[in-house]
Amino acid sequence: VVEQKHKVECYLYTGCGAERTLLLVDLALETLVESRISGFPVVDDDGKLVGLVSDYDLLALDIISELQYCSVAQTLGFGLQTSNVYPYKAVPDGNGLQLSDGSLFPEVDSNWKVFNELQRSLGKTSGRLVADVMTPVPVVVREKTNLEDAARLLLETRFRRLPVVDADGKLVGILTRGNVIRAALEIKSDGEEGA
Ligand code: AMP
Repeated sequence: VVEQKHKVECYLYTGCGAERTLLLVDLALETLVESRISGFPVVDDDGKLVGLVSDYDLLALDIISELQYCSVAQTLGFGLQTSNVYPYKAVPDGNGLQLSDGSLFPEVDSNWKVFNELQRSLGKTSGRLVADVMTPVPVVVREKTNLEDAARLLLETRFRRLPVVDADGKLVGILTRGNVIRAALEIKSDGEEGA
């Protein structure tokens, strides 16, 4: 994150380098959707990790404020049309929008189009900065962290990813649930081959 007086720029860490992208929450959201990722680390000018933003943070931000509006509007009969943002549906008991299956958020990777549409119809991010919504000082692991410990941390915290930092706090990677599962499968198949 490059913090200037009125501007925060963040870098999207792609695994092969930090690509300069954005800055404002709505652009961050767009990047999440377009890159089909569920979150990204936020780094400062020196590459030091300063925060983490997930789709959860971005969705919660808008949906929570808009849910209020949605319920009131529908009660008054001039509400937001939710029929075109399948699979979201209006919930008449004051809970606003929900997925048809009852959950508030779509599964990662499954409903990006809907996610995008919903954001467009509900979007009120204008002017908000990534720094305002990120989780500061995220839980991290080091490159030498034992994979089992990292897996336990993912399980215990239920976070979907852990940034990997070096001794100076610089971001060197991201460890996701998928990475751990893949590693576990590889270890298993190596073991079977060796048997
Ligand atoms: P998620 O892991 O995407 O389900 O995120 C759920 C919430 O936890 C969001 O508010 C994230 O900002 C936060 N979060 C995700 N990963 C971490 C982490 N490694 N350390 C601290 N907070 C995190």
